[in-house]
Amino acid sequence: MKIEGETNVTSTRFGRGAVDGLRHELGRFIVTTMEIPWSLTRERLGGTPEKIFLCESMEIDHIERQLAEVPPCDTIVAIGGGQAIDLGKFFSWKTGIRLVTIPTILSVDAFVTPAAAIRKNHQVEYVGKSTPDPLVIDYDLLRTAPNELNVAGVGDLLSNHTACRDWEIAQAAGKSEYPFEPESIAIGRAILADIMNRADEIARCSDEGLQAIVDGYMRINTICLPAGHYRVEEGSEHYLFYELEERLQRPFIHGHIVGLGVYCMSRLQENQPDEVTQFMDRIGLKYHPADMNIRKEDLVSSLSNLRSFVEGRPNLWYTIINQRPITADWIASTLAGLRF
Ligand SMILES: [Zn+2]
Repeated sequence: MKIEGETNVTSTRFGRGAVDGLRHELGRFIVTTMEIPWSLTRERLGGTPEKIFLCESMEIDHIERQLAEVPPCDTIVAIGGGQAIDLGKFFSWKTGIRLVTIPTILSVDAFVTPAAAIRKNHQVEYVGKSTPDPLVIDYDLLRTAPNELNVAGVGDLLSNHTACRDWEIAQAAGKSEYPFEPESIAIGRAILADIMNRADEIARCSDEGLQAIVDGYMRINTICLPAGHYRVEEGSEHYLFYELEERLQRPFIHGHIVGLGVYCMSRLQENQPDEVTQFMDRIGLKYHPADMNIRKEDLVSSLSNLRSFVEGRPNLWYTIINQRPITADWIASTLAGLRF
């Protein structure tokens, strides 16, 4: 999670039809993508890639084998959601080749963060540093994805709600891993407030709603990249996701699982849970376990194990999980509001 450098996105191209005409600027290019995003983009993009890498797994052994097959080229075009973008970032970091990112859904913030999320034995690790030149946000292309996937893009902004509080909790306990920055927390909360004010636009995935999500992420970077960490954006809500991912050994739509984390951890923090839940309901975020096929017994086990899970991982920051015991009663009352 350690990040170096002050900036990430080198240039941007935002608007309807932003992908059209891009091919003339790519030279020889390769593509990292998945089947559906590629089928949606190949016509708009045009041209013939030197090679197409379909992202099947982000396990380190697998992506290093793919890396060895990258042919000489001028540009790496990463097209898709989180993992396809991360694969392009990983290649660009390893080879120094120019990166162009074209998110086809906003369900995860991979397109604005410099490090690539990879997996080692199913555990997330963030490696390297890369910067898109340009980051291409094509509203029409984004709207070819189901609304719920773009709405899921608020997940890593919503997480500010619980993550900012976690940092305050850590600071009050004398456990903050970084110099405490009340101003960063204020900005983190202002970003979330702006998103909450655009709930209806986001629910509809209008141009303005989509741009609000992208702007939110770019603004987060102006805090997090100079600071060198994502403390305002990541805390206990993500740790519940890490536990569940390791327990269930399957991927989730990031914004949905983070939404579930915000639901649970805002309650553990006693941090305006009703307001944040109403917002998630209003935009139609699918944060209920039923939406993700998470069984009640698994979520109960995950929450029961959460404290020992985070205590066993010294790289995880101090949060409410370290401080407030998660009891069987608390779990029962928290889960009562969720659909299974
Ligand atoms: Zn996240």
